[in-house]
Amino acid sequence: MTAAPNVYDAEPIPAEARAEIDRLLASGDLFRYTRPQDAPVALLEQEFAALLGAKYALAVSSCSAALFLSLKALNLPHEARVLIPAFTFAAVPSAVVHADCVPVLVEVGENYRINMGDFAGKLDGSIKAVLISHMRGHTSDMDTIMALCTAHNVPLIEDAAHSLGTTWHNRQIGTLGKIGCFSFQSYKLVNAGEGGILITDDPDLLARAVIMSGAYEENWQKHQGLAEHFAKWQNHLPLYNLRMQNLSAAVIRPQLPLVASRVSQGLANHDYVAGLLNACPVLTVPKPLSPEARAPDSIQFNLPQDWTDAQALGFQTRAMADGVKVQIFGLSQGNARAYWNWKFLAPQPDLPQTRKMLMRAADMRLPARLTCADLDYIASTLIKAAMITAQAPLAAK
Ligand SMILES: *Cc1c(COP(=O)(O)O)cnc(C)c1O
Repeated sequence: MTAAPNVYDAEPIPAEARAEIDRLLASGDLFRYTRPQDAPVALLEQEFAALLGAKYALAVSSCSAALFLSLKALNLPHEARVLIPAFTFAAVPSAVVHADCVPVLVEVGENYRINMGDFAGKLDGSIKAVLISHMRGHTSDMDTIMALCTAHNVPLIEDAAHSLGTTWHNRQIGTLGKIGCFSFQSYKLVNAGEGGILITDDPDLLARAVIMSGAYEENWQKHQGLAEHFAKWQNHLPLYNLRMQNLSAAVIRPQLPLVASRVSQGLANHDYVAGLLNACPVLTVPKPLSPEARAPDSIQFNLPQDWTDAQALGFQTRAMADGVKVQIFGLSQGNARAYWNWKFLAPQPDLPQTRKMLMRAADMRLPARLTCADLDYIASTLIKAAMITAQAPLAAK
């Protein structure tokens, strides 16, 4: 019998990174602004912008830092209200709070996508920015979101932390709004341990974000061009020092050429497992919206809404006994993606639709490197656990 695959192990970092890291260690050239030009971080910014088809990029210490700087770069008023989906990672409302703004949570449906009725209703005159988190790469109806943001003259930030390579009408996710933010934390498609990057076509936003990221004095000269924008903002903005260092860029750059194959392999793996799970009468993998081409490295699926919490947890325990670890977002203690655990926010109105989804939505990693035998093992284990749970007499609760 095949053993359960370890879905948490990372892939090795390409060998070119080691040579570059040795070179950097030998010279001690770790700070992005030491050399006048062509520092690894600056080269990463050029390469990433080109890869995504954006004009400018700024590499920083995390995607959370990129989200924070994006909000600051927009120059929003004190305590500006920012719409975010209620299904996201705790780092997102945290970035909003950190930027001195107030998050307003929007309902998310059983297909993990924003409820457009609730979105349209909450996008009133009090909303100063919209921050869309493409959670686990699931893309909401961006046509309607962009049209509503334009109609209300409200800037759109995309949190594409976990969506690198996803497209919407063949456009890269992260290039649809004014600013797009990505993560290089280890569980994302490109792994540097930590790191983030923002992209934009707006030179003034870029200049503001660069300065606030910690381009003190005239270090902005080491970014490409835009002198008049930088000169305008220099010394007028606080420095938050959220820079990326050269070692991170050395780890990231050789992974960029691998993004396309990781995306296609990840999608093939996902769709294979999704097909098997959807053939099981008990499990449902929601379909993407038609303009979306996904880039998943994990799979989400729904357990039946009429199951009790005990049944859902029983399913989880049965899968775990065979070595397949799934989490049900709303049933795992203190889950950072369950909005009721964001106790750092002011008390929020309940969001029954999002709550209902979180209580039955299961999540498991499905990295691109898995073999066909691994995928078969995972799918058959999940199906077996689901069928036994569906047939087992209900535990009284
Ligand atoms: C990982 C993640 C983040 C945070 O990224 P960091 O680089 O760890 O700060 C934010 N949003 C989403 C949707 C994520 O998946």
